[in-house]
Amino acid sequence: MELRNCPVCGKVFVFVTRNLCPECAAKEEEEFRKVKDYLYEFPGATMEEISEKTGVSTKRILEFLREGRLILKKENVNILLRCEMCGAPILAGRLCEKCAGDMKKKFGVVKTPKQSEDMKGRIHLSWYKRQKT
Ligand SMILES: [Zn+2]
Ligand SMILES: [Zn+2]
Repeated sequence: MELRNCPVCGKVFVFVTRNLCPECAAKEEEEFRKVKDYLYEFPGATMEEISEKTGVSTKRILEFLREGRLILKKENVNILLRCEMCGAPILAGRLCEKCAGDMKKKFGVVKTPKQSEDMKGRIHLSWYKRQKT
């Protein structure tokens, strides 16, 4: 059992998979759900608009994208996420496919989003299909 201090509220909690106490994790989950729902309803929304309507900071929305938790679709034309290496537009994460490939060649590994609990929040295409039918 590993005890840690929550980086958000400072409370001590038992570390399982995420570096957040259960309360803050639940709050973050709620924020993520709001952002995801808003984007689903208004695909043309800008980051600022989502932030305004959901009360979630643009910084947090960007984190969701960088973590690969929130994935943009081609309809989400007003949110631009760029590759940190070459600036090419990407839909999620930090690097475009080309740069991720280059990194892989150079270093052998590419840091990918944690395949843990966070996967639950990911938007899968199958999820959309289920919602529509
Ligand atoms: Zn906390
Ligand atoms: Zn790139």
